[in-house]
Amino acid sequence: MDKAETHMAADETRDTAQNLAAVKARIAEAAVAAGRGAGDVRLVAVSKTFGAERIVEALEAGHRLFGENRVQESEDKWPALREAWPDARVHLIGPLQTNKMKNALRVFDAIETVDRPKLARALARGFDESGRQLDCFVQVNTGEEPQKAGILPADADAFIAQCRDEFGLPVKGLMCLPPIDEEPSLHFQLLRQIAERNGLDELSMGMTADFEIAVTFGATLVRVGTAIFGTRPPFKPSPS
Ligand SMILES: *Cc1c(COP(=O)(O)O)cnc(C)c1O
Repeated sequence: MDKAETHMAADETRDTAQNLAAVKARIAEAAVAAGRGAGDVRLVAVSKTFGAERIVEALEAGHRLFGENRVQESEDKWPALREAWPDARVHLIGPLQTNKMKNALRVFDAIETVDRPKLARALARGFDESGRQLDCFVQVNTGEEPQKAGILPADADAFIAQCRDEFGLPVKGLMCLPPIDEEPSLHFQLLRQIAERNGLDELSMGMTADFEIAVTFGATLVRVGTAIFGTRPPFKPSPS
């Protein structure tokens, strides 16, 4: 199935449970084909821009792990959902401004976008003050794109060490978002190499267009939105 067909299928059925099951089956198949266990890869269902009623469909289908890219939007949607599904988990997969730290600590279970010392320091302080620790992932800008967040590959080892040693952050793994017009496997490979030499187990990589390739290259978390919830409304910039 090519990318366009995948989008259409998700749009056409609008059946969240069915789409979820299909994505999970494709993940398991890709894992087994790569000599990995069918359960080695977790699916982060990216529910950004979709309302609570769509998320409820996924929760009712038994899914519990979600990704959101904005703090404010997550604060609007998730507290009520968590009341009803206390075991739901939400990862922040978009940029975090340090002035949103208190809000982020309330609404998320993991921050996948730790990418600069200022943010790492603010997280450490936030964990201290709140007594709550969130899993941390270092975002690497594998394509070295100027407009994109993430630490540069050349600076990754030093930054990971700083996050652990200076700030005491629970760094679980790495995350990347390859350039849309490039072969993703080179980026997945690079992310994996950086993780391996730093002794990190978790790799968050792969989206609707390329999650099976990411699984082949060792992803432990894939972040999939469109193939589950359908095409998102056009992006409207607003403060997160
Ligand atoms: C939106 C988003 C995704 C999901 O993208 P799809 O192509 O809809 O699967 C994954 N990761 C990040 C960081 C995102 O912002």
